Amino acid sequence: MTEPADTLFLKIIRREIPADIVYEDDLAIAFKDINPQAPVHILVVPKKPIPCLADAIPEDHRILGHLLMTVKRVAEQVGLENGYRVVINTKTDGGQTVDHLHLHLLGGRALAWPPG
Ligand code: 5GP
Repeated sequence: MTEPADTLFLKIIRREIPADIVYEDDLAIAFKDINPQAPVHILVVPKKPIPCLADAIPEDHRILGHLLMTVKRVAEQVGLENGYRVVINTKTDGGQTVDHLHLHLLGGRALAWPPG
């Protein structure tokens, strides 16, 4: 069986690359995006290296649900009481640049719609 690719985010999970980690548990980690697109821009990442949402399998449903609950928890933690946006860029047309599933939590200002 082929080993999953060693991604940038796995290196952050292993503490081989520094990151501003705001939350962590057995299934997920959340850290500040290095190039923030809003006053609050946090990435919520599963510890399992699922390359993108399109690669999720039915057995991942617990992880996927946990990621959304983690976004909600972190949004409360950082005080986004006026609301926020959650984005999952997927593959090339989705603008995905890191091949490890991640949810962008964006907030801290009124966000325009639709995105570009
Ligand atoms: P994508 O474009 O794949 O949806 O999002 C990848 C995100 O990872 C981008 O918003 C980018 O700024 C962020 N990113 C890339 N490299 C690093 C890094 O080394 N550390 C952190 N904290 N974020 C990163």
